[in-house]
Amino acid sequence: MSDQRERMNVESFNLDHRAVHAPFVRVADVKRLPHGDVLTKYDVRFCQPNVEHLEMPAVHSIEHSFAEYARNHSDVVVDFSPMGCQTGFYLILASEPDIDGAISLISATFQDILRATEVPAANEVQCGWGVHHSLEAAQHAVRSMLKQREVWKDIEA
Ligand SMILES: [Zn+2]
Repeated sequence: MSDQRERMNVESFNLDHRAVHAPFVRVADVKRLPHGDVLTKYDVRFCQPNVEHLEMPAVHSIEHSFAEYARNHSDVVVDFSPMGCQTGFYLILASEPDIDGAISLISATFQDILRATEVPAANEVQCGWGVHHSLEAAQHAVRSMLKQREVWKDIEA
């Protein structure tokens, strides 16, 4: 593959996924809206790209749990969504970029997930695939990610 690729619209398509070292948390994008509001998008990466990935029930249960519990800690959570490659998630906050603040929020939310005894909204009323969950797999992934918190800001391999 050429290293002389054209610049693409999507920020992460311009990231060399061979040159990063997971797990990490980085600012992927900052959008300044016409009325002055700021949206910051964080790349919350659990797995080394093209080496490992999360299984879908873990992805799904982390998504549900994080989306619900993060809002107990912060009122600027706009979205938390999985990457299609199953190596991490995007967290969007309505605030200026603040990697330490984001890491505190992520850590507190992960602690909630480790204490949880069920996945929020894992049923056919509140979810599009209610049986497709694994709290155990979600907790395993989050525990492993949390253990490496001191290297989350070290993005490059
Ligand atoms: Zn769901």
